[in-house]
Amino acid sequence: MGVIGDHDGMADVDVAIVGGGLNGVFIARDAAGRGLRVALFEQGDLGGGAAMAAPHLMHGDFIALERGHARRVRAALSERDIALRAAPHLVRPMQFVLPIHAEERPPAMLRAGLFFYDRLAGESALPRPEILDLTVDQAGHPLKRSLGLALAWSDCLVDETRLVALNAVDAAARGASILTGARCVWAERSEVWKLTILNRGRRETVTARTLVNASGAWTRQVTETVLHLPAVQASFAKISLIVVRRMFDHDNVYVLQNNDRRMIYAIPFHRDFTLIGLSERGFEGDPATAAPGADDLAYLCTAASRYFRERIAPADVVHAAAGCIAEDPHNGFIKMSRRRGEAPLLTVIGGATTGARRRAERALAKLSHFFTGLPPWTAGALLPGGDFPCDAFDGQVDHARRRWDFLGADHARRLVAAYGTRIGSILGAAKSMDDLGPRFGHDLTGAEVRYLMKEEFSRFADDILWRRSKLGLTMPWQDREALAAFMAAA
Ligand SMILES: Cc1cc2nc3c(=O)[nH]c(=O)nc-3n(C[C@H](O)[C@H](O)[C@H](O)COP(=O)(O)OP(=O)(O)OC[C@H]3O[C@@H](n4cnc5c(N)ncnc54)[C@H](O)[C@@H]3O)c2cc1C
Repeated sequence: MGVIGDHDGMADVDVAIVGGGLNGVFIARDAAGRGLRVALFEQGDLGGGAAMAAPHLMHGDFIALERGHARRVRAALSERDIALRAAPHLVRPMQFVLPIHAEERPPAMLRAGLFFYDRLAGESALPRPEILDLTVDQAGHPLKRSLGLALAWSDCLVDETRLVALNAVDAAARGASILTGARCVWAERSEVWKLTILNRGRRETVTARTLVNASGAWTRQVTETVLHLPAVQASFAKISLIVVRRMFDHDNVYVLQNNDRRMIYAIPFHRDFTLIGLSERGFEGDPATAAPGADDLAYLCTAASRYFRERIAPADVVHAAAGCIAEDPHNGFIKMSRRRGEAPLLTVIGGATTGARRRAERALAKLSHFFTGLPPWTAGALLPGGDFPCDAFDGQVDHARRRWDFLGADHARRLVAAYGTRIGSILGAAKSMDDLGPRFGHDLTGAEVRYLMKEEFSRFADDILWRRSKLGLTMPWQDREALAAFMAAA
């Protein structure tokens, strides 16, 4: 197969990965950076699985403390800070605001929890927690008047689909073959794995010394029907989120205690919108069919309407997404299967966004029996475009606007948030918007589309509209059609 690197006489690659979601791309990047020959196969688009409905949180998960997960919270806080340094364009520090009231958890318990959370964060550069008076603080303006106090602390947000794309870009830069539209349909296990891949309609064979099954909610299906092994014991849930018109003007993330003890997040989303998530219910069917239902919309609207003065109803929802995740009490499941004389199989399922880098490191540690002398490296490494200090985002936007003085403020912010210092690869020597080719919607240009096709594995309009960006929220249908035609002709 031409796209895969040199043949070592035994197998085409050292590590083959099935699945281009969060887990697959983090493992691909880590393995490629250790000098291993890597091929990743994704049946659709990168980040097209669970990442579509991931709640955008890159956090320590304050509320996990009540389940006694202090070590896990400490590890997540440390990973959050690593991610912030690695991708200051993508990972955004925000103030998280949790209104406290007598109907849910006791206020004294929440205060004690926050104190402990702050201690676990250690030397983090983010601002310290505080108690807000919602009757005077701007965070209280959109909320019901009856709410008095709130806990406030710093955590981060990230767009998981872009995080997936950037890890894939970095993996490819380090030599990995990243194949989208490439479905693994059959695998035979002997000394090496022999995989049959339906690669954009062509049937191809790839051999690999080790195989990583990172197919998320498809893991059972892949294990049984592709690998011909007994199904993995794991249960899956459907998560759903909704997007409504902007409900507040500031940059706070609301953490809302629902009356079923779950937390609902209301997050500022792409300037004009608010994201509300998540609903979660058990799911048994084909993950590709998971879609937000009327019950999910009603659940999220009701939960948010308990807190906001402005009631929201399902009719206000402008976008909704669903995905399937592993119901996972231990932050990810990594299982190694070894048999005498047969190539190993590593199965990686689930886990929060924040722990993905460390999970990949743990996965590589399991493979270290086969590839010795390859130390971990990702904790201090930057993601593409992330080579600026984590408190310098606004400075990067100002710099971009000076260098390309035709950029509007919102356009510059969007580009810097998505591409960081790589913005120059899109804008080049342009002197005006006209130099950037046709325009789709408000500010997506032909130059950006070409970049996303060449550098970020985008093939179809939806890859760009919903995964490399969220411009699908605002783009009129005529422009979507023009974008699809432009991409087909490119
Ligand atoms: C705070 C927080 C908590 C979270 N908690 C959890 C949690 O507890 N559990 C959890 O699971 N997630 C959780 N998530 C979601 C998490 O971020 C990931 O999205 C999730 O772990 C799924 O990643 P994945 O790579 O395993 O699966 P996916 O993103 O679904 O990727 C799997 C990919 O495999 C591809 N694929 C399937 N079959 C094939 C095949 N035959 N050939 C080629 N490709 C194939 C699919 O198309 C898909 O793109 C959480 C997120 C956050 C922010």
